[in-house]
Amino acid sequence: MDTLRHLYRIGHGPSSSHTMAPRSAAETFLKENPDAARFEITLYGSLASTGKGHFTDVALFEVFGKDRLTILWRPEIVPEYHPNGMLMRALDAEGNEITQRMIYSTGGGALSLGPEDQEAADVYPLTNMTDILNYLVESGKSYWEFVEENEGPEIWDYLREVKDVMYDSIERGLNTEGVIPGGLGVSRKAPVFYRRGKLMNPTMASVARLTAYTLAVSEENASGKEVVTAPTCGSCGVVPGILRYLQENLQLSDEIALKALATAGVFGNVVKENGSISGAEVGCQGEIGVAAAMGAALAAYMYFCSVRQIEYAAEMALEHHLGLTCDPVNGLVQVPCIERNAFSVGTSLYVAEYVSFTDGSHMISFDQVVDVMVHTGIDMPAMYRETGTGGLAKSYARAKKKKKKEQN
Ligand code: SF4
Repeated sequence: MDTLRHLYRIGHGPSSSHTMAPRSAAETFLKENPDAARFEITLYGSLASTGKGHFTDVALFEVFGKDRLTILWRPEIVPEYHPNGMLMRALDAEGNEITQRMIYSTGGGALSLGPEDQEAADVYPLTNMTDILNYLVESGKSYWEFVEENEGPEIWDYLREVKDVMYDSIERGLNTEGVIPGGLGVSRKAPVFYRRGKLMNPTMASVARLTAYTLAVSEENASGKEVVTAPTCGSCGVVPGILRYLQENLQLSDEIALKALATAGVFGNVVKENGSISGAEVGCQGEIGVAAAMGAALAAYMYFCSVRQIEYAAEMALEHHLGLTCDPVNGLVQVPCIERNAFSVGTSLYVAEYVSFTDGSHMISFDQVVDVMVHTGIDMPAMYRETGTGGLAKSYARAKKKKKKEQN
C-alpha cells in the first residue's frame, strides 16, 4: 500500500484529478521536451466532459503558454483503463510529432501510464482493513503507530506540513469574501457562518464554527487556491474542518492532531488501494464518501475510541454515502460539492459519537463497504460519474435553457 504522502497531496484546486494531476503531467512532459515548438493535448472522457468547469484548460495553458498549446476535447471517447485519459503530443515547427504519451489521471492527483504502471510506493505490507485491524488488535497498537512503523518517523514532519496547509486554507477562507470564479454566481459563505455564528447560542455557534471551517477550505479549493487532497480536492473540506473543530473543542495538542491525520489516512489509503477515490470512476461516494469515512475515523480517534470502534466509524460513514452520484453543475467544483463537504462533517461527527456508545462490533466490515462502493460505481450510469451530464447538472442546464427561451 502506498505512502500517505500520495494521499495527502498539497497543491492548487479546484480538482485533484482535473487540475492538479494534468498540471503535473504537463510540467513533466514540457521538461522532457524542451525543444518542441508546439504541443497538442487531447482530453478524453470525464477530463473532457468537465475539464472546462474544473479549469483543466487553464492549468494546461499556464504550463505551456496559450500560443504553444492546442487542446482537443473528446468527451465521447472514454478510455478503457480509466475515464480520465489525456494524450500529450510534442510537435516540431512543421507540425511533425516528436513524441507522444497517453497518461491517465486516476484520482486524488495520482497519474498512471496504464495498467502496468504503478506510481504507488510499496510502503505498507498490509493492504486491507481486516488484516490491519487484526494486526492492531493482536499487537495492541494504534493506527498512528502502524503508520509510523511503516513510514518512519519522518512522516510526522510531512503531516505537520499537511496540517499547516489545511489550517492556512481555513484562515484564508474565513477571511475572504466575494463570488467564487466560474460564472455560477456562488458567493463564499464561510465568513458569514464564522462571524454570525459568534452571535448565537452555544449549540448553534458550535455548528456554525464547524461549518465555517469546512466551507472555508472547500471555497478556497473552488477558487483554485492551495489545499490538501483528503482524499481529493473536491472533498478537501471535511478532514480539516473536523480536525480544527475537535482540536479546539477538546483542547488537544498538535501531536494528537497529527496522529488523528495519520489515523484518517490509513482509511483513505485502504480505499485508494482496493477501491477508488475517483469521482469519474465511482461517483461522489469515492470522494465525499471517503472523506466522511476519514473524518469519522479522525473524530473517533480524538474521542479516544478503540481500533475496532474507529474502523466501525469509518465503515458506517462510508456505508451511508453509498450510491452518492457526481453531478457537478456546469462542471464546476461548487454545486453540490461545497455544501456536500459541510453536510458530511455532520455525518462524520455523528457516527463517531454513535460508535463511542458501542463496543465496536458490527456486521459489515470496512473492506466489504469498499467493495460494495466499487461495484455500485461500476453499475452507475456514466452521467453520474463526473461528466456533468446527469442529476443536478442536467436539471440546472434544463432550467437555464427554459429561462432563456422564455426571455427570448
Ligand atoms: S460532486 Fe463530489 S465527486 Fe463530483 S466533483 Fe463534486 S465533490 Fe467531486
